[in-house]
Amino acid sequence: MLPDYHFHTEFSGDSDTAVRDQLNAAIALGMDSLCVTDHHDYDVESIIDFILDIDPYMQTMAQIREEYKDRIDLRIGIELGLQVHLQDYFKELLDRYPFDFVIGSTHFINRTDPAYPSYFIGKKEEDVYLHYFETTLDNVKALDDYDVIGHLDYIVRYGPNKNKYYSYRAYSSIIDEILKTVIEKGKGIECNTAGLRKGIGQPNPSFDTLKRYRELGGEIITIGSDAHIPQDIGSDFETVRQILMDCGFTYYTEYKNRIPEFKKLF
Ligand SMILES: [Zn+2]
Ligand SMILES: [Zn+2]
Repeated sequence: MLPDYHFHTEFSGDSDTAVRDQLNAAIALGMDSLCVTDHHDYDVESIIDFILDIDPYMQTMAQIREEYKDRIDLRIGIELGLQVHLQDYFKELLDRYPFDFVIGSTHFINRTDPAYPSYFIGKKEEDVYLHYFETTLDNVKALDDYDVIGHLDYIVRYGPNKNKYYSYRAYSSIIDEILKTVIEKGKGIECNTAGLRKGIGQPNPSFDTLKRYRELGGEIITIGSDAHIPQDIGSDFETVRQILMDCGFTYYTEYKNRIPEFKKLF
């Protein structure tokens, strides 16, 4: 079973799941290792509190890692909500805490959450999608404090028509620029399976973007469910194993102490 490199627990503002329940679900599936990545979106306007209480988080995870060490190898990560103006803040944060792995996700556009239908009112869906990719490009260019970019085309989960009119081709120039920047910086992307659960029939990013990333020389790829409940741990991992093989990947990536480890995909 591929290791789950993106899941949340009660340390995230949008999950009530106990850490041990997530680990037990992974063990039941036969997973040998996984990486917890709770949310930390600093300086945003949100009704949900996405600020991670990092000291207790690190302490609790280190304790549980020890407790579970004979059953599963827990790596300790974080999902940072990227924003260009937080450059110095992120640097200090990652100097201070010994994370194994950092996902950099674009969740907010101009400090506002586009994951609500109200965000799209009075806007053209294609314009919001483009603006989301522009924001992502600004983030990946300006910032270095991440290992992989989370759920690259995540915005297509939230438009009124979701991904009905969306394709890699329609945004290929900006997506290519994002992918090239990530590759040049020695960073990676993730394949996030939540889109498959949420009924859009694709992981994030989509097949064509994953394939393009590989064509451009992209090698670092982690796999994550983005589970907020135990039932979603490892969801659709066999489907994405096949998708990644079809895109030309032979390895996937795990991280320890922020250093990538390449493992055979099949
Ligand atoms: Zn996310
Ligand atoms: Zn997440």
